[in-house]
Amino acid sequence: MCCPQATNEVIGRVPKATHEEMLAAVDSCSRAYHTWSETSILARQQIFLRYQQLIKDNIKELAKLITLEQGKTLADAEGDVFRGLQVVEHTCSITSLMLGETLPSITKDMDTYTFRMPIGVCAGIAPFNFPAMIPLWMFPMGMVCGNTYLLKPSERVPGCAMMLAKLLQDAGAPDGTLNIIHGQHDAVNFICDHPAIKAISFVGSNQAGEYIYERGSKNGKRVQSNMGAKNHGVVMPDANKENTLNQLVGAAFGAAGQRCMALSTAVLVGEARNWLPELVERAKGLRVNAGDQPGADVGPLISPQAKERVNSLIQSGVDEGAKVLLDGRNVKVKGYENGNFVGPTIVSNVTPDMKCYKEEIFGPVLVVLEADSLDDAIKIVNKNPYGNGTAIFTTNGAAARKYTHEVDVGQIGVNVPIPVPLPMFSFTGSRASFRGDTNFYGKQGIQFYTQIKTVTSQWKAEDASLKSPAVTMPT
Ligand code: NAD
Repeated sequence: MCCPQATNEVIGRVPKATHEEMLAAVDSCSRAYHTWSETSILARQQIFLRYQQLIKDNIKELAKLITLEQGKTLADAEGDVFRGLQVVEHTCSITSLMLGETLPSITKDMDTYTFRMPIGVCAGIAPFNFPAMIPLWMFPMGMVCGNTYLLKPSERVPGCAMMLAKLLQDAGAPDGTLNIIHGQHDAVNFICDHPAIKAISFVGSNQAGEYIYERGSKNGKRVQSNMGAKNHGVVMPDANKENTLNQLVGAAFGAAGQRCMALSTAVLVGEARNWLPELVERAKGLRVNAGDQPGADVGPLISPQAKERVNSLIQSGVDEGAKVLLDGRNVKVKGYENGNFVGPTIVSNVTPDMKCYKEEIFGPVLVVLEADSLDDAIKIVNKNPYGNGTAIFTTNGAAARKYTHEVDVGQIGVNVPIPVPLPMFSFTGSRASFRGDTNFYGKQGIQFYTQIKTVTSQWKAEDASLKSPAVTMPT
């Protein structure tokens, strides 16, 4: 059976959790919390060591499920699982990650030390585009720190999260430590409002993310909210041409552009503007097909509405004076004529005031701007409200250094088109791409899912006891 995005046939239905079911799920997390948070850190580590092995053993099955439900190509779906698996592997270092700090002898006979403690029931709200990786950014980090977890996967891809939960149960996670609820707005509001939930991790669009950040924060919860993007690839004329063009095409059209770190905007500096015809030729070589078909490079979009939206944003560019150098709007895929396909599309002569530049397209569309100098390119990038990711392609170290220092974007690649940090770092999108104080995974992830207790203790010998009450501030 193929994915519904290629055929628009129903492959399954998702049950929306009722209010009673959602209450039961949080109660289950709350009941499990006491025991789980007191379970030794070594025992929790062992569960995640078994979990990473089970994910590895089942990577092909998980990838098949992703392709079936979400439509991305099988090879890309394996990457989706793999990048989540890396976060699970990182959680296995929790015995070092959760260490506190100690300062002995801060005054006579007195020491201060800190513990990192879990915070309670935490919740995650995930998007459709990475059915494995993004849930795996969430509950493993939260749980290994001693929290219990309520996950709401995207209603469009509910199956992968269910399989990940089953594997976690097989790895030995006790009942109640992870619960899953399905649904949309009601489930989201429930998470934002329930007093037992102490922290929310959200990944998805700005519309939902801003709302969840505000509603959750108002209710006193910690919220980290990773949102939309418009990532610019700045191409300097001294760049390695062959490498750069291939990287641009891969990063703009891979996963049909449905990645928050897709390189959706090229800024060609100076003579690099002459590379456009070759860029178009390379993009033409990509094969558009159902995700499970051998050799497919670009799969279908998530829904007919997404296809319509992408097509209308391309049209808006035409209406506002841009040029469509490669038009994927009428692509036909043999055997999948009803699918949500848009082929690779390249729109040039784009200016920052155009709608196709201002909005996140989230489809296989590369918009191309031109700049006379690196300074001009930096101005363009910094004027855009989003700050998720960017890349510069150059062979000049000074240009690369200037770019990385002057650009106001959270994740920067130098000759790396999609600079998603590995889990020992954190995912550091900024400006309109992020709300919150601490980012996902890495050290900041541990900070998000823990609170600090600071202990100051004094052990005096009997004969050093105070001789009278001390009523002034100790100095
Ligand atoms: P989405 O916002 O539509 O959905 C995300 C989650 O929020 C889902 O669980 C959904 O049920 C819920 N939701 C949707 N609309 C809502 C609303 N109005 N109110 C409350 N809850 C709502 O996002 P999506 O379409 O699933 O994912 C694509 C978006 O996610 C893109 O904008 C992409 O850039 C972004 N994204 C960001 C990152 C990142 O790390 N910055 C990673 C992946 C995806």
